[in-house]
Amino acid sequence: MSLGGGLDEAVPFALPLARRFRGTGLREGVLLRVGDTWGEWAPFPEYDDATGARWLAGALEAARGDWPAGYRDSVEINAIVPALDPETVTRLVTDAVATDGCTVVKVKVAERGQTFDDDVARVAAVRAALDDCGAPAPTGRIRVDVNGGWLVDDAIERLAVLDDIAEGLEYAEQPCATLEEMASLREQTHVRLAVDEGVRLAAAGETDARLAERVRAAGDVLVLKAVPLGGVRRSLAIADAVGLPVTVSGALDSTVGLAAGLALAAALPDPPYACGFGTGRLLAADLTGETALPRDGRLSVVRHVPDPSRLAAARARLDDDRAQWWLDRLARCLEVLGAQS
Ligand SMILES: [Mg+2]
Repeated sequence: MSLGGGLDEAVPFALPLARRFRGTGLREGVLLRVGDTWGEWAPFPEYDDATGARWLAGALEAARGDWPAGYRDSVEINAIVPALDPETVTRLVTDAVATDGCTVVKVKVAERGQTFDDDVARVAAVRAALDDCGAPAPTGRIRVDVNGGWLVDDAIERLAVLDDIAEGLEYAEQPCATLEEMASLREQTHVRLAVDEGVRLAAAGETDARLAERVRAAGDVLVLKAVPLGGVRRSLAIADAVGLPVTVSGALDSTVGLAAGLALAAALPDPPYACGFGTGRLLAADLTGETALPRDGRLSVVRHVPDPSRLAAARARLDDDRAQWWLDRLARCLEVLGAQS
């Protein structure tokens, strides 16, 4: 069967997570090969085909090995703290500082089914753990990711509380759902705001200039995810149009998939904020023999190839129906992309 898109191989895979994240214990996707380079296509299962097609543009760019040259050979990495209880959080942060050398911690808040008290306890635990590990503020920095979970009035109050506990939040990522709400919030808080979902959700059908204007009104920092935005080159164009400082983040990638984000972080003219590629600790298995983890708080800009036996094991975790579901989805998204070009 011809795969289309110039692909030589497409291998559905599943990686077990060490901890549940985004409500799942398994990270699924398809590894794409063109010649001897690989790209990772893993749009979350609930996303529609239009979104999947944008991720596919990014994954195909990766599989074709078509990335611009970089300015740096390593990038600073932040640790990630999911919406977990304070004891677990303390352990995660202690590991991140002691083992990985990461002193910037991104904390998930506003998790469905939890309360703001849970967020307060979690941020306090992170602050205490950073202090105990010899990373007081401002070396040990905390940013929160709200994933659009708050209304403007709540966000004003809650950011003030968390900013106090964190001893100065580095920034708050997507505190409200829309760019308009964030622009309003921005006039009523001194905490810096970062736009994440606001860019991806608006990315279709809007000119870069118009989007850039709305993003600049809504935030102080721009979060870019290479593959979800349609690739490294597309992300660089958005960064250039918006003109705000950038954080590059991954999408719970395998060590193979991380390469796209690393290529983007390396290719930005100005060094980005600490990047969200610290998700290797969330995986219980990988597509490579060794998971890329930060050393002294940094990751090298390296392209890893899958280990054949790990890839085979990851393929075997999916039953044939599920693997076919991924291949059918791939075929549909290739068609969407083909219709656009
Ligand atoms: Mg985010």
